[in-house]
Amino acid sequence: MKSYYLTPGPSELYFTVPDHIRTALQDQVCAISHRSKAFQQIMAETVTAIRQLLQVPDSHHIVFTGSANEIWERILENLVDTDSFHLVNGSFSKRFYEFAVMLRKRAHLHEVPFGQGFDVADLAVPAAAEIICATQNETSSGVAMPLTDLYSLKDRYPDKLLVVDAVSSVPFPAFDFGRIDSLFFSVQKGMGLPAGLGVWIFNEACVAKAKDLQKAGKNIGTYHSIPSLLSQSAKNQTPETPNMLGIYLLGKVCQDMNSRGIEQIRQETVFKATLAYQLTERLPRLSPLVRRAEHRSQTVIVADVLEGYRADDVLNLLKPHGLIIGKGYGDHKETQIRIANFPTHSKELFYQLEDVLNGWK
Ligand SMILES: *Cc1c(COP(=O)(O)O)cnc(C)c1O
Repeated sequence: MKSYYLTPGPSELYFTVPDHIRTALQDQVCAISHRSKAFQQIMAETVTAIRQLLQVPDSHHIVFTGSANEIWERILENLVDTDSFHLVNGSFSKRFYEFAVMLRKRAHLHEVPFGQGFDVADLAVPAAAEIICATQNETSSGVAMPLTDLYSLKDRYPDKLLVVDAVSSVPFPAFDFGRIDSLFFSVQKGMGLPAGLGVWIFNEACVAKAKDLQKAGKNIGTYHSIPSLLSQSAKNQTPETPNMLGIYLLGKVCQDMNSRGIEQIRQETVFKATLAYQLTERLPRLSPLVRRAEHRSQTVIVADVLEGYRADDVLNLLKPHGLIIGKGYGDHKETQIRIANFPTHSKELFYQLEDVLNGWK
């Protein structure tokens, strides 16, 4: 029996991916030169499809890396001379902060307890901070930042670069790129693709910052510095031999999502999230971790497991039905569950999840 992975990354592949992999093999996408016209065309198509899906304006560049971890590092190298500021409320936002410490930046953080969001109105960003790092969807805790909170930070601190980790929410949020300097994601979560590709979006303010640092003799990295990435992407190429299959598949899946319609995807996402939160509220052995509804992620639903039961009890109940959900993250792996709600996950899967959990004896 086929299992369905409702895990928050890696996750179930987008349902069209197997067909696209077959076509890619037929067309020898992995064998062509990454300097060939054929590859340039693939890369151009992928960038166009991402622009359409996420409504990325021409003011922002789109480049490829190996992962979101890599983009954390590249952002700190290219956009920060001395001081960064981090909103931390879970393991992924904490890791971004730790990268800044490892790279010897003066990393400032504002941290709130696991499962909570931020009261951005009361939040002060230190004057020295050059960038504000926000994890829009904290995958470990299932807390999401409302987009209006992100934008209000940019409004209050227009001279600081606002950088947004949207790894586990893309393509769901309708971002206004006019109010975001940089945004990034990797593809093994909401996009439903094999891991090993990061997508980094940034505007001219980021380009100017990287060039200023370079001019001042600072280290901004090597092959994946912003100037190096841009000089290649201008030709629809990459500095290194890239994950050509990944770039090809991302383009195809974005095109598929574009034909389905992003509005449709968003509506279905909200519908399934509502169903999952209602379920975790209703069942006595589960309880949603995130208390404030406006901070609840629509794409990663996290619940505490109560009454002496463990995450494994829930996982083992669902597994025979072909439903694989995630355990809690890190220290919470025994006491919490995480359910991914990505575009590939159908309403039917969520109804099935509801049926099985309703019958938990
Ligand atoms: C998964 C995840 C990452 C890391 O992505 P990689 O592709 O493994 O580098 C970063 N941030 C968030 C919020 C994530 O969920």
